[in-house]
Amino acid sequence: MATQLTQLKGTSYYIPGAVNTGVIVEGKDCLLIDTGLDRQAGKQILRCLEEEGLTPKVIINTHSHADHYGGNAIICKQTGAKVFASSLEKAVIENPYLEPFYLFSAAPVKDLSTRFLMAQPSPVHGVLEAGVFDSDGFHVEIIHLPGHSPEQIGVVSGDGVCFTADAYFAPSILDKYGLPYCADITSALQTLNTLWQSDYDLYLPCHGEPEVKATETILKNVGVIERALEQILVILCDGGRTREEVLAAFMIQNNRELNPVQYVLNHGAITACLSHLHLISKVGYHFQDGKMLWEKTTGQTCSPFG
Ligand SMILES: [Zn+2]
Repeated sequence: MATQLTQLKGTSYYIPGAVNTGVIVEGKDCLLIDTGLDRQAGKQILRCLEEEGLTPKVIINTHSHADHYGGNAIICKQTGAKVFASSLEKAVIENPYLEPFYLFSAAPVKDLSTRFLMAQPSPVHGVLEAGVFDSDGFHVEIIHLPGHSPEQIGVVSGDGVCFTADAYFAPSILDKYGLPYCADITSALQTLNTLWQSDYDLYLPCHGEPEVKATETILKNVGVIERALEQILVILCDGGRTREEVLAAFMIQNNRELNPVQYVLNHGAITACLSHLHLISKVGYHFQDGKMLWEKTTGQTCSPFG
């Protein structure tokens, strides 16, 4: 896709790409929302802004996945832009090793030291909280959108454009990847509900198209999560299963192949589903023969319809 500054509304723009970059313009200055996967993505953003005579002063990272802050380092080096993120996401942006580390839950195998999971580190100059954010002449609202990442945030511009980060994905992404990565299903469902009820003028996810009403796309995302939860409950009908066995059954049933990156992302998402089902008392676990075995709680039927 051509890297081109595209107007959303008023002074709110974006640069479409594999990861959309939000751009809020103030005179000849601009505020960026996420910076793409790597140095290359950062350079493309800089070239695009230069063509428009714009200088980035502020970068807001919605969350700490490598494909959202990988361009920070080069943009900061060339322009001196200041970076802002929420507290927990800041820790990972400054220490990229933490992403493959938490996904693998120990020193990761070498194949996980990939740019898809580990970006160049970037300093974070300020911590974001929900509410009004004022810096360098920019005024935006920060909203909490936790779930996909523990402290993911969204940005609402003065034009009423809501930059929704990875709170939901375009239907084409759901078709391609199935259950998207999610750190906390309980929070993700609450976030989807909040966005579904919201009334902003325009919505832009990082992976998808701008929409005036995003309710249908949001409901599709809820549907994918709810189907996954039902599927896991059915998988657990045959008795206790380990997390690995639940993952394997889920992957086979959905005709999905694994590679090292897909393995840790899907393992994380399945684990988040099990934690959620445990929180709402639909599954329990016990230890037997050196295994942590998950099972449906008594009284739960084995029909996917309830
Ligand atoms: Zn993400």
